[in-house]
Amino acid sequence: MPHLLLRGLIHTATACALLLLSACAEVPAQPLATTAAPSQPSVTVASAPVLQPGQPLLSFTEWRSLLRSDAMAAGIRPEVFDHAFAGVSPDPAVLRADSSQPEFTRPVWEYLDGAVSNARIARGRLLLAQHRSTLKDIRRAYRVDPEVLVAIWGLESNFGSNIGSHSVIRSLATLAYEGRRQVFWRSQLLAALQILQNGDIASERMIGSWAGAMGQTQFMPTTYNTHAVDFDGDGKRDLWNSPADALASAAHYLQASGWQRSRPWGAEVKLPAHFDYQLADPDVRRTLAEWRALGVLPFNEIDAQDDSPATLLLPAGHRGPAFLLLNNFRSILKYNNSTSYALAIGLLSDALKGNGGVQAAWPRGERQLSRSERIALQEGLSARGFEPGPADGIIGANTRRAVRAFQQSLGLPPDGHPTPALLLQLQ
Ligand code: CA
Repeated sequence: MPHLLLRGLIHTATACALLLLSACAEVPAQPLATTAAPSQPSVTVASAPVLQPGQPLLSFTEWRSLLRSDAMAAGIRPEVFDHAFAGVSPDPAVLRADSSQPEFTRPVWEYLDGAVSNARIARGRLLLAQHRSTLKDIRRAYRVDPEVLVAIWGLESNFGSNIGSHSVIRSLATLAYEGRRQVFWRSQLLAALQILQNGDIASERMIGSWAGAMGQTQFMPTTYNTHAVDFDGDGKRDLWNSPADALASAAHYLQASGWQRSRPWGAEVKLPAHFDYQLADPDVRRTLAEWRALGVLPFNEIDAQDDSPATLLLPAGHRGPAFLLLNNFRSILKYNNSTSYALAIGLLSDALKGNGGVQAAWPRGERQLSRSERIALQEGLSARGFEPGPADGIIGANTRRAVRAFQQSLGLPPDGHPTPALLLQLQ
């Protein structure tokens, strides 16, 4: 999804907890852009009351009636609203998904095994060949490389074969009525009505993920309105049924996110002995030349200039592989704000070019902390004065900083990566 709200924002943060910024693939993605995308000018924030999740003050019918007035004020025609809302009632499954906080999450290597599987690489290469001409036209129009688009297509919907089966209007109405972040969902709902009014898709066929991400590249409605394009020339922006529209829309979004054509997303690197692991932090940016001077060397030559800024990522801590991340990685994060997701896109796009996979070994024997353990970790760090922020089970910047400080106090490599062994030492 060019997901909008940070996928992270949405439950992914909890679901993929340990990776921080990270994605969890299986969680419905909120693609593109949510926060990053400009809001649809014609859709204004409605004035119907914002309620507390799970405690609607109005019946759904009353709420819908207020929403209808707001939609009219935003320029939606009555017949469009009434047709879209015919027979719509809140969907309990969507609410459950919205409030889900999984106790266990998959480690990044398992996520990557599935995301960048041999089957997906093979299918992607076939589709890259089949759509070569369209992808070439898209590259000319938006200056975005075919492989990254096909990688996004593969991860978002398994190349169009899994676009979700929820009614987008019903899902968004449920979330806007009684979910968390109702203001956000309301703006998505009004944007979805705008798409129906534009005639891009019939309401019966407007299906998506439970969170309203739509089509083969899983666009949220506000991003759809700002970045979806009709590339096959039939007059409709149809991300459900037209691979050309879906791929070009993703390219349009990546272009707006600063994609640099023919440049790498990043590369796997080797770290020198006695490396200062505190440098592996999203806030620490150095040029490629500076990283090289520190002894951080790519396995293969990086096709980027020496003064290109890069950050260092250790997705599984100092025991696992290391990657230098360049500008294009940050563009992918704008599509879906998850480090694991962006890494999968980068590795899959490399594989589609025929390049090999990750060279260093993942610490596959290492168990992931459960949500309760992450909370216990935060409580333990807090009790010792390391200030990890609220004990919410989400390993964000503050918790990572606290983990580093605790690791340093023990004389351990300060990679900020929490492990069961570290939790034991804390307890
Ligand atoms: Ca079209």
